Amino acid sequence: MRIAGLALPRAGLLLAWLALAACGGAAGGPAASSASSPAAAGACSTHPLTPSVTEGPYFKSASPERTSLLEPGMQGTRLRLEGRVLSAGCQPVARALLDFWQADVGGSYDNSGYRLRGHQLADAAGGYHLETVIPGLYPGRTRHIHVKVQAPGGQQLTTQLFFPGEAGNAGDSIYQPALLLSVQDAAGGGKTATYDFYVQAS
Ligand code: FE
Repeated sequence: MRIAGLALPRAGLLLAWLALAACGGAAGGPAASSASSPAAAGACSTHPLTPSVTEGPYFKSASPERTSLLEPGMQGTRLRLEGRVLSAGCQPVARALLDFWQADVGGSYDNSGYRLRGHQLADAAGGYHLETVIPGLYPGRTRHIHVKVQAPGGQQLTTQLFFPGEAGNAGDSIYQPALLLSVQDAAGGGKTATYDFYVQAS
């Protein structure tokens, strides 16, 4: 088969191309995680909003503004999380507010201070990045990072991000495949993870 001069020997390639052109498949399937990886905003015209899930009991307002939650002596595998905040129309949401909080490597939240808590504003292209550690497990939950995301003047999204390959994902009632991070080994050690948020813009 030949389209616009390109040989596409298998229908699967064409389907893959069509899926990319449509900016991923429906939430809940394997395509959802790839659709959540950083992509050119111009590659899609519409995208399902990132699902909201429960805030849980450990959110604290007024977290410090910072893109690194790392502190001297902090234990755990380093994790760089990055991605973009986009509208349902796949347009960058400049200066979107992102507020992250998570457990430490031992599965504990800092409820007296602000360790492993921080907020930031996305850049002009909707981009964000966070330096942190992979959170530990605590009873009853699979591994996750909490986050609130809000476009300027938009509705606040409260959700959680999950890690692929976790034994506890299937048994966690809050887990959703559409909230899976894409995780890779980092060149200098640790891990890198990507996730694009799709939020209601004003
Ligand atoms: Fe939690």
